[in-house]
Amino acid sequence: MSQENMKFEEMGLRNEVLKGIKEMGFVSPSPVQSQAIPIALQGDDLIAQAQTGTGKTAAFAIPILNQIEKNREIEALVITPTRELAMQISDEVFKLGKFLRIKTVCVYGGQSIRRQCELLENNPQVLVATPGRLLDHLKNDRIPNFSPKVVVLDESDEMLDMGFLDDVEEIFSYLPSNRQTLLFSATMPEQIQKLAHKILDKPKYVKITPANITNTDITQKCYVINEGHRDEAIVRLMDVFTPQKSIIFTSTKKEADALAERLVEAKYKAGALHGDMDQRARMDSIRAFKANKVNILVATDVAARGLDISDVSHVFNYHIPLNPESYVHRIGRTGRAGKKGMAITLITPLEFKELKRIQDEVKHSLELEELPVYEVSHNELVQKILKTKIADEAMDIYNELMDKHDETNSALKLISYILKEGTKSKIGPNQQEINRLQEQEKKPKQDYNSRRREGGNSRFGSQRDSHSRGFRGNSRGGRRY
Ligand code: AMP
Repeated sequence: MSQENMKFEEMGLRNEVLKGIKEMGFVSPSPVQSQAIPIALQGDDLIAQAQTGTGKTAAFAIPILNQIEKNREIEALVITPTRELAMQISDEVFKLGKFLRIKTVCVYGGQSIRRQCELLENNPQVLVATPGRLLDHLKNDRIPNFSPKVVVLDESDEMLDMGFLDDVEEIFSYLPSNRQTLLFSATMPEQIQKLAHKILDKPKYVKITPANITNTDITQKCYVINEGHRDEAIVRLMDVFTPQKSIIFTSTKKEADALAERLVEAKYKAGALHGDMDQRARMDSIRAFKANKVNILVATDVAARGLDISDVSHVFNYHIPLNPESYVHRIGRTGRAGKKGMAITLITPLEFKELKRIQDEVKHSLELEELPVYEVSHNELVQKILKTKIADEAMDIYNELMDKHDETNSALKLISYILKEGTKSKIGPNQQEINRLQEQEKKPKQDYNSRRREGGNSRFGSQRDSHSRGFRGNSRGGRRY
């Protein structure tokens, strides 16, 4: 039988573990589980390239649980980049291990060290930890007889992005050499490959490609705008699609705060989520979002990793994501648990090239569309006129009109002029322009480069510099969410 079709019951798992899997409602293994679990059960080291949402937590939790002996020592260690992930993993391990009556402990920065020491003294079998705090405990000799048999490095590329790689390497100097090591990562940048070489012993390799997980329940849309119109476009799309619950992904923490603020000012129920917020503020945001107290979460990528919220109806990409994997992660926050979802990406003409890379990777063609045009109602028009500030030149035009007509006549003519010119509010290029820009994109490379140079002084040009692959490649270690 091929591993693809293997059932949980055929993996040689202990009864208690099978009962835990059933209790979780898992009927059959996901692709990463059917590939990774048999390897891990054999005791081999493993590199698994898989994103959140693929069932990767159970892919390492199940083999860990299968070999738990409950010998009053920590038997397995899971290292993960964020507190949210640590809590989610600990929760899933605990639930799956319900019938083994195992104890898990979760240690992360920001929590009382004394409390964590008390929990560690309670003989847990599984320790889930973020790197900084774990290293702190190890350096200060606060974990007695620490010799886990299995060590999982979860979301390794995210640890690299968050600048944790040195801590991670140092942690491994405290671990026994005869351990089994399982490394999970969505992508495999060079530094992670190097790390894998150092900490793994003849690893087997499993890859769940994005194509396996792009979900047909997600409608993907791409709207072309010009730089500087992003906030306006988001507001427009909120009004057009009226999402029940949405996540807007921004590239930076600053953008997340600014957009959330703008949406709140415009009376939307929005909140921000990013790594500069303290633990309590982050938890508050997540709780409010889960409970529908806010229904728009403006987040950096950190949210794409850990959040397990099944009823997100729309995902917005404020910028086109840096790489195809990130695109897949983000849109995977919607269309979950059999529900339909929509993923909307804002794109400027200068980003068309990046779109192509995403399309090639996810093997899904994305039509570029003009932003929905919005017909202003009479009521809104009146409000808009009333709210309009009087321009300096207005008095001259008014005097000229008064010379020729009476007041009523002039006002009526003015309103008729506005109606004739159109009360449609348009953002970004129209479909014809989009098609032309796309054609232009297909022209030889020189055209593209010279156009790019022309755009060098625009807001786009300067912003993009800090988002380009080159920049990211050289300084990933410094980026913190
Ligand atoms: P993960 O990729 O570990 O974050 O898992 C994503 C979601 O899928 C979690 O809510 C898991 O509980 C769920 N899940 C994991 N494995 C399975 C499975 N075999 N069948 C159904 N759901 C699963």
